[in-house]
Amino acid sequence: MKEKTGHIRDAITNENADFLSGKKYKNYTACKKCHIIFIDGKWHYNETLYNEAVKKKLIQKEIVCPSCKQIESNRPNGYLYIAKEHLKGKYDDIKNMVKNIETGELKHFNPLDRLVEIKEENDQFVFTSTTPRFSDIIAKKIGKVLHKKPEFHWSEDNKFVKIYIR
Ligand SMILES: [Zn+2]
Repeated sequence: MKEKTGHIRDAITNENADFLSGKKYKNYTACKKCHIIFIDGKWHYNETLYNEAVKKKLIQKEIVCPSCKQIESNRPNGYLYIAKEHLKGKYDDIKNMVKNIETGELKHFNPLDRLVEIKEENDQFVFTSTTPRFSDIIAKKIGKVLHKKPEFHWSEDNKFVKIYIR
């Protein structure tokens, strides 16, 4: 894959764009895994809304959303590599920060930005994400906390990114 550097925030896969537009979804379609729910032309990633809809028996259709499919089949579009030495004594804090980014305000902005997994590879931790944008966002925040500059390697079409904090 040809790579280039730089950072572009709006890279989004076509599949995700189709999904977010919601064109082919009925009102009250919901993902049975993450509970994202389509109401009045918009996806909401909000457990309270979902629970209310279930209680009132409003759910029309159950699906598995693109993010959950991606997580299930472990096909991330963003990789963030962090040298283990930088996370000594900070791993839990960083992990919680990433979780808070995923489940906080961001999910209202783009509910398909999700963490896939955190794994160990030799002397690095690898944080994988469903979207390159999520990797971009967490890399910049983690970089700030660690006082390190992340190094970005975007694919030519901006649909895939590898980021290194060395
Ligand atoms: Zn889902």
